[in-house]
Amino acid sequence: MREESLPPWRTHDWKVRTIESIAPGGGSRLAFTCRSCGRIFNQTTINSRTWAVDEGGVALNDTVTNRWLAESCTRKPSDTDEDDRKLFKNGPAL
Ligand SMILES: [Zn+2]
Repeated sequence: MREESLPPWRTHDWKVRTIESIAPGGGSRLAFTCRSCGRIFNQTTINSRTWAVDEGGVALNDTVTNRWLAESCTRKPSDTDEDDRKLFKNGPAL
């Protein structure tokens, strides 16, 4: 199977960590950190909701989440990711 045919999520080299074993609403909350590109997502297992976070675990803007989920692993940290990490979900409007 060629790498390009994989779903973008599968191209990352995930290190998975449990943040909360029982999150509010049930299920657990996991942190997915890519060893290659350094992108971090949180995911709630009960509904598979996934969103991008910064190094501190703060949720990023939906635009960033959707773009990161659609992109394959770059295999190295991207300079533009630093700008993306300034776009917090609950930050000031752009
Ligand atoms: Zn990656």
